[in-house]
Amino acid sequence: ARSRLPTLLNVEGAGQCIAVLTSGGDAQGMNAAIRAVVRMGIYAGARVFTVWEGYQGLVDGGDNIKEVRWEDMSGIIQLGGTVIGSARCEDFKSRKGRLTAAKNMVTLGITNLIVIGGDGSLTGANLFRQEWQELLEELVETGAVTEKMAKENNHLNIVGMVGSIDNDFCGTDMTIGADSALHRIFEAVDAITTTASRHELKCLVIFCVLFVFFQFCCLCCLNQIVGNFQIFTEKWFDCMEFCASLNSHQRTFVLEGMGRHCGYLALVTGLGVGADYVRNSGRRLCMIIVAEGAQDVAGNPVTANDIKELVKTKLHHDARVTMLGHVQRGGVPSAFDRILSCRMGAEAALAVLDAKPDTAPCVICLDGNKVTKRPLVECVNRTLAVKEATKAKDFEKVVELRGRTFRSNIEIFKVLKEVEPPASSQCDISGNCKSGHTLAVINIGAPAGGMSTAVRAFVRFSLYQGHRVFGIRDGINGLFDDKVEQLGWLHVDAWAWAGGSKLGTTRTLPSKDMQKVAEKLSKHGIQGLLVIGGFENCDRIKQSASSATRRVFVVECMGGYCGYLATMSALASGADAAYIFEEKLTLRDLKNNIEHLIDKMKGSVRRGLILRYERSFVFLRYLDRLAQFSF
Ligand code: ATP
Repeated sequence: ARSRLPTLLNVEGAGQCIAVLTSGGDAQGMNAAIRAVVRMGIYAGARVFTVWEGYQGLVDGGDNIKEVRWEDMSGIIQLGGTVIGSARCEDFKSRKGRLTAAKNMVTLGITNLIVIGGDGSLTGANLFRQEWQELLEELVETGAVTEKMAKENNHLNIVGMVGSIDNDFCGTDMTIGADSALHRIFEAVDAITTTASRHELKCLVIFCVLFVFFQFCCLCCLNQIVGNFQIFTEKWFDCMEFCASLNSHQRTFVLEGMGRHCGYLALVTGLGVGADYVRNSGRRLCMIIVAEGAQDVAGNPVTANDIKELVKTKLHHDARVTMLGHVQRGGVPSAFDRILSCRMGAEAALAVLDAKPDTAPCVICLDGNKVTKRPLVECVNRTLAVKEATKAKDFEKVVELRGRTFRSNIEIFKVLKEVEPPASSQCDISGNCKSGHTLAVINIGAPAGGMSTAVRAFVRFSLYQGHRVFGIRDGINGLFDDKVEQLGWLHVDAWAWAGGSKLGTTRTLPSKDMQKVAEKLSKHGIQGLLVIGGFENCDRIKQSASSATRRVFVVECMGGYCGYLATMSALASGADAAYIFEEKLTLRDLKNNIEHLIDKMKGSVRRGLILRYERSFVFLRYLDRLAQFSF
């Protein structure tokens, strides 16, 4: 099997020991990262140890540092939290604690340490590495370790991964756990909006009341907040009065989320749920999302209960508080977090084994969609600089330090959230523009989640930049029937959270009628066309019921001629094999896979999982026979 991964693995782990620990607050996806470290480490030939209860385990030693086998990592990828425990450890903050930790590591021959935690944990790891030589000298002097042992372990390699639901670490676009936390918040927002607004038109107002990002994240009148909380509340009430003036039967939900002093969770929630007004009459639901670190510009905390009281006393609205609390840390990790953790964990194991004495400690980061290594010290320093800039209320600097993606999220949010086109917009609310181009958007193929969200973003951004936008209903057939309508700002109001395709879509391909397509585009004066869609792009999973007996599940996924869904699902679910169209398998490969499953089933693991992509050359019937034959 190893020969199938030549590009992935050119490091040699034989003779090396790796320890992995989780530290600080736990986050969904940590288990997937531990599993990936362990398995990639073993695969490379290294011995891998898990350290229980974070740095405390390293200091306490003994059973807290356990060598693990490949199969010990079975069945943990889908679990939230961390199976090896996490802790905050005062002992490790002292040199004495780190000296004991070094002794425990040297005794086991561990010179590669992978830390999954927040900036505090990674700072501690860096300090540990800097002190390593001195710690060894002291251990030799006191006779705690021999000179030979010290010589054999004279260098410590450190690699970090950031596990944090807050996404507050500079250098990576996403931290492990942030996406799952977003899922929990979205589920809560969806649950509240559906119960409270059944059969009713909604006025969904999301106030992302953030410590550092008032001016970016708050809807309505909160864009230019200066002064103190009093000023903030006056402006806020202007806005609420406006909303109330539309209809007095209003209920306000105040939802407090986590995120500490980082606005990411609240900001992206604002983006994803499409906070907005609907101007029609009808009963309205107002929702206010408060980040846990929310403060006014004078530094006074703004809590969910403060806001509730203000809503009640000043606006006489019914107001309810929902504290999301640890719900956000809980539950299963999202597919994104599992895949991210697998990729990061594997990279971390390779990076630590590949490190030379002069290699600087690194953090495994996500840059766009690419997993990369960045210098740990630089990332930690930037993260600390954010804290300083936050204290100094230098918000522009905070945003700059948080990075490109954060800034782009803010900018997109600022435009999309508006009730009507921002003052700087080149088009009016109905979509009439003084100049600019004429653009159109069409959905083609199977409906898929996110299509309408993308249309909404396209329409509003185009209008903002001064371009007229047409929506083409019902795909290519709609274009032929002239179902082409001009879209204004409010047309796409509630489309952010709509499933499927609000524009309507059909599977007709324009291949034979290109001439007609061109005529229609020309007739409507369309100069630019955005096509959103594709074929076979929704997944279908067939899975048998679970059972206590040993059983191999064969799951079939869709995906056209692209094995993406099967490969990603295999990564996220920890499958034993994935058969895809792009990879031509031999009978020998199949036989190896089956033998692997048989071996696995001989132990304590009772479940096997094979993902077969619908157009794979491996037939379901064949797999079924093989599986029955073998088990
Ligand atoms: P989270 O983001 O969840 O708070 P974190 O890693 O930032 O995670 P901290 O409580 O700051 O959480 O750190 C976790 C542990 O890392 C500490 O309890 C301590 O053991 C170790 N640690 C943190 N900072 C240092 C430091 N400067 N020196 C040595 N060890 C440290």
